[in-house]
Amino acid sequence: MDCIFCDIIEGKSEAEIIYEDERVISFLDIRPVNYGHTLVITKNHYENFLSVPVKELNAVIKAARKIAEAISISLKTDGFNIVANNGTAAGQSVFHFHFHIIPRYNTDKFHFRPELKNYSNGSMKEFADKIRTAVKK
Ligand code: AMP
Ligand code: ZN
Repeated sequence: MDCIFCDIIEGKSEAEIIYEDERVISFLDIRPVNYGHTLVITKNHYENFLSVPVKELNAVIKAARKIAEAISISLKTDGFNIVANNGTAAGQSVFHFHFHIIPRYNTDKFHFRPELKNYSNGSMKEFADKIRTAVKK
């Protein structure tokens, strides 16, 4: 299986590694939205958020917190986005689960403002019911 992130983990491909522990590795995104844009990934290959076992998800979230804090302090950001694209429709291009941590500044020109919808009468409850019945306890 061809996976650029697995290649980075195995040392076959270069990366600016920011952090590493038993389960997680973090490195700079090669095409940053803003400089310092960092990815946090599990060392095991999982395609997306739903395929990551909870234990490893905990580890990756814990690491993401550390990295977000380090980015905020060291780059003096005004904020940051934590984003995970899941599936081609959502813009995922590398199918090894990752969080993006994107440094943000009041003056940056990056906007994520999609056209927002309105629910028609009663349809908000319909959507909520569909999702509620599918939530696993
Ligand atoms: P996504 O589109 O959410 O799957 O994000 C994949 C990200 O991986 C993109 O932002 C790419 O710029 C980044 N990327 C791809 N190849 C590399 C690489 N060799 N080193 C660092 N980042 C990479
Ligand atoms: Zn991989």
